[in-house]
Amino acid sequence: MGKMSLSNDIHARIQAVQEKIEKAAARCGRDAGDVTLVVVTKAQPVEVVQAVIDAGARVLGENYPEETTEKIPHLNIPETLSWHMIGHLQSRKSKLVAEHFHYLQSLDSLSLARKLDRHLEEAGRKMDVLLECNVGEEETKHGWGVSSSSELNSFYADIEAISKLPNLRIRGLMCMPPLFEDAELARPYFLRLRRLRDDLRRDYPMLDWSALSMGTSVDYTVAIEEGATFVRVGTAIVGPRHYS
Ligand SMILES: *Cc1c(COP(=O)(O)O)cnc(C)c1O
Repeated sequence: MGKMSLSNDIHARIQAVQEKIEKAAARCGRDAGDVTLVVVTKAQPVEVVQAVIDAGARVLGENYPEETTEKIPHLNIPETLSWHMIGHLQSRKSKLVAEHFHYLQSLDSLSLARKLDRHLEEAGRKMDVLLECNVGEEETKHGWGVSSSSELNSFYADIEAISKLPNLRIRGLMCMPPLFEDAELARPYFLRLRRLRDDLRRDYPMLDWSALSMGTSVDYTVAIEEGATFVRVGTAIVGPRHYS
């Protein structure tokens, strides 16, 4: 496929997703302007990432900082482009994120927050972060457990510590619930994250809880109905991943 047709193709798919975002927002009386589409370009080659940028996307989601920093020098990047880290971040890679990314959606521990804060200090940068919650209580998933009262107590203690770190700004919550073929089955998890956010808003009114990142290619419209302000869509826009 030629360069232009690849980017045209991706543009059409972004438009289609954007239309579904607008319809979902309208269904529940929300403003579609409050929902940001994150185009997930992890495991996509440079040509595809460039085509996504050329198609007009300005918020890109990536999972592996080394992969992203390898791609960056080969890309023609507008100043307004924002890189969002959305996958589990190993703390030894937090320097790469501090230097090259604009947003960490997948902050999942206090120790990572502290490391990242130090690297941001050195880089003279600040970063918006979302706290990832393991709403499905899955062993294999990262994020704070938020089910039992002891889990919630330690989550609250970590929030207090993170909120004091000078270079991080908490903006809200993120989740990656179990994957279902039927998007409706994800709804209770999205609802759970929103309710937790509402509790945090009540308990920490001085912090910003405006962002809720939830929903992927299969279930982003359901996530919007439950309050998502970021949806993270990969395969529905760029097709299957090329490597993992
Ligand atoms: C890969 C990934 C996505 C995108 O998933 P698709 O099914 O390709 O839309 C969203 N969020 C996270 C955290 C991911 O790792």
